[in-house]
Amino acid sequence: MTLPTSPQKDIRERLLRRRDELRGRLDQVNADQRRAAGALSADAPDRAIQLENDEVIDSIGQTTRAELVKIDAALGRLDAGRYGICEDCERVIEAQRLAAVPYATQCLQCISEPNAS
Ligand SMILES: [Zn+2]
Repeated sequence: MTLPTSPQKDIRERLLRRRDELRGRLDQVNADQRRAAGALSADAPDRAIQLENDEVIDSIGQTTRAELVKIDAALGRLDAGRYGICEDCERVIEAQRLAAVPYATQCLQCISEPNAS
């Protein structure tokens, strides 16, 4: 029986890919925001739609930035050899949880029972 090829390397690549993707999205958001600035329509209904779009773009920007921070933190934990260890109970985070949320810092149990230890 052989060990699977370095799962840590796969995780790193996955995180780096995701980070590139998010950075690309953030560039797009910034470009949209630049375009939106100073380009408000004089027509009130159009303006309302534009402002609404701006809010959507802002919130996409915020979630994207928040996820980037988490991914950077996960990469830092990988480097420190702490990746996949629950910050609360120090147990290994379930593989299926990491597959769904690669930057998870808590195991399923700690998430479902935040006050238990
Ligand atoms: Zn835990």
